[in-house]
Amino acid sequence: MFESYLKQYIGKDPAQVKPLSIAIVGAGATGVELAAQLHEVTGVLAMYGLNEPSDVKLTIIEAATRLLPALPDRLAMATQQQLAKLGVDLKLGRRVTEVNREGILTHDGEFIAADIKVWAAGIKAPDWVKNLDGLETNPLNQLIVDATLKTSDDDIFAMGDCAACAWTGRVGNVPPRAQAAHQQAEALYKSLCNRLNGKALVPFTYYDYGSLVSLGKYTTVGNLMGSLMGTVSIGGFIAKLVYLSLYKMHQIAIHGYFRTAMLTLSNAFRRSVYIKIKLH
Ligand SMILES: Cc1cc2nc3c(=O)[nH]c(=O)nc-3n(C[C@H](O)[C@H](O)[C@H](O)COP(=O)(O)OP(=O)(O)OC[C@H]3O[C@@H](n4cnc5c(N)ncnc54)[C@H](O)[C@@H]3O)c2cc1C
Repeated sequence: MFESYLKQYIGKDPAQVKPLSIAIVGAGATGVELAAQLHEVTGVLAMYGLNEPSDVKLTIIEAATRLLPALPDRLAMATQQQLAKLGVDLKLGRRVTEVNREGILTHDGEFIAADIKVWAAGIKAPDWVKNLDGLETNPLNQLIVDATLKTSDDDIFAMGDCAACAWTGRVGNVPPRAQAAHQQAEALYKSLCNRLNGKALVPFTYYDYGSLVSLGKYTTVGNLMGSLMGTVSIGGFIAKLVYLSLYKMHQIAIHGYFRTAMLTLSNAFRRSVYIKIKLH
C-alpha cells in the first residue's frame, strides 16, 4: 500500500492526483478487519504530513446482503455503521464476476476502479491437490474427510483448511478457522496414538467457541459460545479485552508463560519509541 501511495502522490500536485483506491472483495472477518486497519494506517500517514485520510478510498464488495455472516445481525449492523463512519464504501449484494488490472466488475455491470485489489472472499486449495492419486476432493480442492479426519485412503488423514469435514449437527462443513484446525489436531493426535496401539480412531466433533472481529483502534465485536451461558454478544472494551487475552493465550501456547511475559514487557517498553509504519 505504501509503495502505491508514494508512487501516486510524491512530487505531484495534490490537486491533480486522484485518491488511491483499494477494493477488498469479501466482508467476512478478514475483509472487515483489513479495511479498519488500512483506515487506521491512513491516519498514521497523515501524521507524517503525507495525506488526508480522504486521499485513500476504501471499498468492500460482498455478494451477501449483510456483512460478517458468523455474527448476529445486531453486531453486523453495528460494524456496518462503524465502517460507514470511517468512510468505507460497502457494496453489499454484489457478486464479483471479473477482476482486471483497472478494477473489479460485479454481476450487475458496475465497474469499481481500484489501484489495489485484495481477495478476502474465502479459501481454495491449490489445483495439484485434486490430482493427489485418487483422493476425493470438493470444488474448493479440499480433501474430503470422514468424521475421523480420514480421506478416501485409509492411511491418509487431512485436517485444517485443506480438509472438508462435515460439521456434525449442522449444514455444511467445519469452517476454515484456527480454532477448528487446533481442535482437529488434538483429535488426530489421539487417533494416531490409538491406531499405533491397535485401538479405534476418535471421531472429531467441532465446538464453535465464537468469533471476534477487531476493527483496530475503533472497536471490537464478537460472540462467545459456551455450554453454560449460551451465546453472548460482546462489543467495545470487553470484546477488546477478550481479543487481547486470546492473543496472549496463543503466544503462551507457542512460547510458554515466561517468554510471553518477557515479550509483553519488552513490547510495552518498545511501544513508546517504535515507529508505527516503515515508509521505505
Ligand atoms: C488474514 C487471515 C486472518 C485470519 N484470522 C483468523 C481468526 O481471527 N481466527 C481464526 O480462527 N482463524 C483465522 N484465520 C484462519 C486461520 O488462519 C486458518 O484457518 C488456520 O491457519 C488453518 O490452519 P492450517 O494449519 O490448516 O493452515 P495454515 O495455518 O495456512 O498452515 C499451512 C502451512 O502449510 C504450508 N504449506 C502450504 N503448501 C505447502 C507445500 N506444498 N509444502 C509444504 N508446506 C506447505 C504453509 O506455508 C503453511 O505454513 C485467518 C486467516 C487469514 C488468512
